[in-house]
Amino acid sequence: MCGGVYFRGIAQHVHADTDTRPWGFAMRNWREAASPSRDFLGLAQGSDNQALIAGGRRSNVTGHELNSLLSTQYKPRDECGVFGVFGHPDSALLTYYGLFALQHRGQESAGIVSAKGSERAFQFHKGMGLVSQVFAADELERLAGTRAIGHVRYSTTGSSNAKNAQPFVVDTARGQLAVAHNGNLTNAAALRTELEARGSIFQTTVDSEIVLHLLAQPRGTGGGLAALRRMEGAFSIVLMGEREIIGFRDPQGFRPLCLGKLDGAYVLASESCAFDLIHAEFIRDVAPGEVVIIDGNGIRSEWPFKASKSAFCMFEYVYFARPDSNIGGVNVSEVRVEMGRELARQCPAEADLVVPVPDSGIFAALGFAEELDIPYFPAFVRNHYIGRTFIQPTQLIRDFNVRVKLNLIREAVEGKRVVVVDDSIVRGTTARTRVINLRENGAREVHMRISCPPHKHACYYGIDFPDPEKLLANQCTREEICKYLGADSIGYLDVAGMVRATGRPFNEFCMACFNGDYPVPFDANFDKLIMEKRRDNARLLEPASDRLL
Ligand code: SF4
Repeated sequence: MCGGVYFRGIAQHVHADTDTRPWGFAMRNWREAASPSRDFLGLAQGSDNQALIAGGRRSNVTGHELNSLLSTQYKPRDECGVFGVFGHPDSALLTYYGLFALQHRGQESAGIVSAKGSERAFQFHKGMGLVSQVFAADELERLAGTRAIGHVRYSTTGSSNAKNAQPFVVDTARGQLAVAHNGNLTNAAALRTELEARGSIFQTTVDSEIVLHLLAQPRGTGGGLAALRRMEGAFSIVLMGEREIIGFRDPQGFRPLCLGKLDGAYVLASESCAFDLIHAEFIRDVAPGEVVIIDGNGIRSEWPFKASKSAFCMFEYVYFARPDSNIGGVNVSEVRVEMGRELARQCPAEADLVVPVPDSGIFAALGFAEELDIPYFPAFVRNHYIGRTFIQPTQLIRDFNVRVKLNLIREAVEGKRVVVVDDSIVRGTTARTRVINLRENGAREVHMRISCPPHKHACYYGIDFPDPEKLLANQCTREEICKYLGADSIGYLDVAGMVRATGRPFNEFCMACFNGDYPVPFDANFDKLIMEKRRDNARLLEPASDRLL
């Protein structure tokens, strides 16, 4: 049986095998229950009479569950994107466009820091929201300079608020410094405790600020490169100093970072798609453990970290990175098509149509369809123009949250045996709504295919997965997942097939969220708000006067 935690709230209302009425009847009941003329929530709570066919069997789902199912669509969240330019008169503007291209990596906040030569203080502007919302033309004019770094954030450590927006800027004995970080430091709490004991005063609750404090230590403590060696975990970082910009990756190379060139200027970006937008030439990936220093003398590399096994995040290929980016010498879209082909060979299905879940399932679905010679049709139509928030007419329009983002073309799927291809299942709520949607629109069979292995473990390296007990595959067998989704069959790509699709060696990847093999030790107590909790604990432990005096 599924683990209790996951299905607390769902399983307790499921009474499978107690009703054999056909699907259409069940859906009519649901439709009726959800109609504006009845109190959907009031009717549903405590009454288990809304039925859905699941996996060829019937299970009852209360209206309350369905309502929450439809309102809690979940996909893992991108972490952050970083960008930097050195030696270009339009550095800030180029950074602005670079951040546009990296917007998929973080939508909570954005920021740019710039400078002109070494004669002027750093200029910066940052704020909450999308790049287009944070920057106006006059701000970009004010930021005019010859070097700049920028950041788009999704919070994986620290709250989402303006104070935690990056890049961070500080004045130190070594001059001004600015930092933009993608990843999670796994030893952040220990480093911060140590730095605070030595008198460092932190402005934010983000692990990235630790980088600045380490670099700001007096030279007697070993210099900048020695400071970097103190950090553990995932970090792809761009730094700006008084005369340079610096880009570096942790020795495992969890997160991507690449180097390009434009009109004689050097550029650094999380992904190569940012170079395409500004017509920069892609030179190469920054290697795991490499520190690239770009200044008036040109470019050079340092290698301060101990040699280590590479552990690039496999999920960048599966989902996070943009398909038009090249990482590790391979184009991400090609890898996804190949994952679809592998999936088709491993988990074929007799079907009339292959339908992708947009956008991330598109390339894998193409590969799946090609391999089995089944027609491909993008039957889910995505609305690209909705904002991040809207007034949700829960009582007025049934399954609004599903339909507002993805609507299904009934004519394409009615009466057909459909294979739905998606990149991953995390909580399962999103996948389940897709299956419900297809059934409701007359699909005769629904076969779910996933272009990576089941997600069973948490990520401590900068990806915002939920707690393991909320991961569907951590709590359920494959048969139980299939039944929960209401699919006729389910198939996942296995680890070997996923790696083969990249064309890269097995030992170059982190796949901990799939196989539990964590390449770098982590703090078992880690959670996203670890810094806030530390602060709150300190408040509880001592009266304010004792803390301050
Ligand atoms: S645990 Fe998963 S998501 Fe996290 S870095 Fe490893 S492969 Fe990527």
